[in-house]
Amino acid sequence: MPKARRIVILGSTGSIGTGALSVVEAAPDDFDVVALTALRNTELLAEQATRFGASRVALGDPLASPNHPGGRAAGGAGRIDPADMPDGVEILSGADGLEALASDPSVDVVINALVGASGLGPALAAVRAGHLLAIANKESLVAAGELLTALATVTGSELVPIDSEHSAVFRCLRGVRSEEVAGITLTASGGPLRDTPDSELARANVEDVLRHPTWEMGAKVTVDSATMFNKGLEVLEAHWLFGLELDRIDVVVHRESVVHSLVRLRDGSLLAHLGDPDMKIPIQYAMYYPDPPTVSFAGRTLAEVGALHFAPLDESRYPCFGLALEAGRRGGTAPAIVATADECAVEAFVTRRLPFGGIADVIERTLERTPSGAAESLEAIQAAEREAAAVASELVRELDT
Ligand code: MG
Repeated sequence: MPKARRIVILGSTGSIGTGALSVVEAAPDDFDVVALTALRNTELLAEQATRFGASRVALGDPLASPNHPGGRAAGGAGRIDPADMPDGVEILSGADGLEALASDPSVDVVINALVGASGLGPALAAVRAGHLLAIANKESLVAAGELLTALATVTGSELVPIDSEHSAVFRCLRGVRSEEVAGITLTASGGPLRDTPDSELARANVEDVLRHPTWEMGAKVTVDSATMFNKGLEVLEAHWLFGLELDRIDVVVHRESVVHSLVRLRDGSLLAHLGDPDMKIPIQYAMYYPDPPTVSFAGRTLAEVGALHFAPLDESRYPCFGLALEAGRRGGTAPAIVATADECAVEAFVTRRLPFGGIADVIERTLERTPSGAAESLEAIQAAEREAAAVASELVRELDT
């Protein structure tokens, strides 16, 4: 029997992190959970550390870190009370703590399920250490795709996507020669506002937006799927993961979220990966890669699903989608700038300081007002993120009054 894989889960209390731990629960002999991290949910983190026997934990609250582009002090967060944790567990905190866990030389797999820009430093640390990086944090590929992929080539680190669309493409591409591939098609459910009339879209409220029709996900990605900014980020993510030009990646709206994405071949045929929408499938696939996954998460049969529908994406309804692509075409730090602007705008929307329609305005104006440059280092990217966060926060204040 092969030895258990030693895994670190960055962001273990979120929806991807808890999904990864349910895979461990289903196949406990296959994994050894070395370290877990949370943003600020110490209670659940302590419970997980006890249940899975983690020897190290970290609380990453980026708002408590002076380096966070948001720059907002979070009044004492970023510290864990040792009394909350099981005996003997090493406790770290902040961005340095996350990076230390991601680069632990004894580890085989790092799952990066952090939200937003906080995932970037730990992603680079894991790749620098040569680990298999199971990546759910699309923002790190969007902001630093060139750095991450170039570094992975040097260290031999493998980047395995957890995003369902990219996992589907990744699986379809195994055994396919690159000269056979014409392009890829990412599917989009249409998000929680797909049936909202155009005239009501700009005034959609937080409750409507957080009710996703097919996928259960965290708040940030659910809002991003309502604006379709998420799909724009996914096009940029696919560009780096699969080394395809942006014009070879397209999007089709598919309400049922059963076809997870497709590879278009030069002979005109398509390869697709299908299944019920269950994030445990792509999570498990990355955790076992390159070995076959062992736990069955079988869902409905196709006869039970009945019908699958496909429609073109109406880009005029979703300006955030086009803004992500525009940033991708500009390149350099422009994708990091729009991703940061979106993070600020989404936080403002969720805390009711910005109307839904204001998210696109904040992204568009932040992109216009923030100078971009080459994304040649983590420092250059983080400097652009700080500048974009300052511009976006100012725009949110203007739009709030
Ligand atoms: Mg996705």
